[in-house]
Amino acid sequence: MKVIAATRNRHKLTEFSRILSPMGYEVVSQEEVCPGIEVEEDGATFLENARKKAVEIFRRTGMPTIADDSGLCVDALNGAPGVHSARYADDEGDGHDDKANNRKLLRELAGVSMEKRTARFVSAISFAIGEGELVECEGFCQGQIAFEALGDNGFGYDPLFLVEGGSFASIPGEEKDRISHRGNALRKLQALLEARRDGAAGR
Ligand code: IMP
Repeated sequence: MKVIAATRNRHKLTEFSRILSPMGYEVVSQEEVCPGIEVEEDGATFLENARKKAVEIFRRTGMPTIADDSGLCVDALNGAPGVHSARYADDEGDGHDDKANNRKLLRELAGVSMEKRTARFVSAISFAIGEGELVECEGFCQGQIAFEALGDNGFGYDPLFLVEGGSFASIPGEEKDRISHRGNALRKLQALLEARRDGAAGR
């Protein structure tokens, strides 16, 4: 099945393709099908934002559309940056800059001990499969925030997010997919879709 990945982030697109291709999906990018569309991400939750993106791109194309809204929630910062992950350092004039976001996160956590640097990545998925028909779920990954950037694989907060074996930016992409919020969410989505199909077939 051909699906649109409703994202303009090429790193996310790579991950979508890497995870969804073995599940039998052909991922095409939003930019290939309807270039230049920026959906306002002003929802209060990851899921609200994901839904906005999926619904809008489906409305424009009529094609099955998967959107992920994701981000990092740090316990010592009461869940920040959360839904503001992509624009965390915007208030410092550094609009949508991963390195600036990482610098701000390290600054905010200055003096916080390793034990208290717990965090989780969240990925909310909304899959628009028909008019008014959405299949939705969330995936998580628990980790800790490093004291300095590690590795140059990946994007966003990957260099600062520690899991077993290193940071998300220092382990191979396939290894990240196996444990990541996005991998977990997309595997859940797959299970939901299978259950729907089985239900429809009366099994
Ligand atoms: P979105 O495109 O609005 O969902 O923004 C997601 C933002 O959250 C990204 O720009 C990153 O800052 C962060 N983020 C989400 N997923 C990841 C990930 O897998 N690794 C690193 N950062 C991520």
